[in-house]
Amino acid sequence: MNKSNQLLGAHTSTAGGVSKAIDRADPLDFTAIQIFTKNNNRWAAKPLEEAEINSFKSKLATSNIKFVIAHDSYLINLCAAEKEMLEKSRNAFIDELERCEILGIPHLNFHPGAHVDQGEKDGIKIISESLNVAHEKTKGFKVSSMLEMTAGQGSAIGYTFEHMRKIIDLVEERERMTVCIDTAHIFAAGYNIKDKKEYEKVMRDFDDIIGLERLQCYHMNDSKKELGSKVDRHEHIGKGFIGLKGFRNIMNDEKVAHVPKILETPKGKEMLEDIENIYILKNLIK
Ligand SMILES: [Zn+2]
Ligand SMILES: [Zn+2]
Repeated sequence: MNKSNQLLGAHTSTAGGVSKAIDRADPLDFTAIQIFTKNNNRWAAKPLEEAEINSFKSKLATSNIKFVIAHDSYLINLCAAEKEMLEKSRNAFIDELERCEILGIPHLNFHPGAHVDQGEKDGIKIISESLNVAHEKTKGFKVSSMLEMTAGQGSAIGYTFEHMRKIIDLVEERERMTVCIDTAHIFAAGYNIKDKKEYEKVMRDFDDIIGLERLQCYHMNDSKKELGSKVDRHEHIGKGFIGLKGFRNIMNDEKVAHVPKILETPKGKEMLEDIENIYILKNLIK
């Protein structure tokens, strides 16, 4: 994988079934996609049907899509304070790992959690414990638990590389841990990826603190809010505060050329905005 053949795509709807995401993404020449394997705003989900699993796998195999990740439900909080909610979150997370495993999806992307008023230190401990419980219940699974960097909005954990390091350190099966950089989130969290020199320092820090080998996906979103704003608002590529300058740094960084890059920017049903954003990203490659 080099700069010119980076895997690029967008979050794609699974309305009508998981295999429908392939039908939608392949004609648009996406080579990487993110999906929800269930309704992301509901706790319960019916098990995936055999026919749908097979359809997803066979369509994927004959498509141009080389990389699929799943994003977990927004309801899950792996450091919820109330015992019942924590239990519910852990079970839902395990269910999502199972869905990924059945579909052959290699990563389950998730936001670490919101500690509310428990403090970051305890929040981090509870998240790691949740991951240990989940991994124990899914022994031998290939799917990784992918920590998504957050903007640090509210009491969200995961807005520093150090948070991720601590979570990973407390997880027993560390080989199952990967990390996703959401560009809008880390920018809002205060990591200046816009200026070339600063960008290089950010990536060096990532490597020193987390290790570049754990970086397995990018969410490519420009930010409606300023550097360090701690507010999570996605904008089209080049239209926000990161700007084309920031995305040029990433698209021309050979060290991360092999890491799939997936848009989570606003779009209509036809996904024309995704096509436009991918075109813009490709054109930044020198
Ligand atoms: Zn996310
Ligand atoms: Zn994201």
